[in-house]
Amino acid sequence: MVEPTGLCFCGCGQATKAGRYFVATHDRRAETTVIKARYGSIAEFVVAHGFGPDHPEGDGPT
Ligand SMILES: [Zn+2]
Repeated sequence: MVEPTGLCFCGCGQATKAGRYFVATHDRRAETTVIKARYGSIAEFVVAHGFGPDHPEGDGPT
C-alpha cells in the first residue's frame, strides 16, 4: 500500500496537504505521463484494459 509522503506523487517535488498524494490537478498530470509512457495514448490504454467504444463496461478482450 502506497502512503502519502508529504510530497506530490507526480514527481514535481512540491509539498502536499496532509494526507494527500498530489497537489491539486497533479494526479491528472501523473496519469497522463504514465499512460503515454506505457501505452502511447489514452486510447491505447483503455483498449489494452478491455474498455473502449465497443466495451464501455470494460468487458472487452485484454
Ligand atoms: Zn505534482
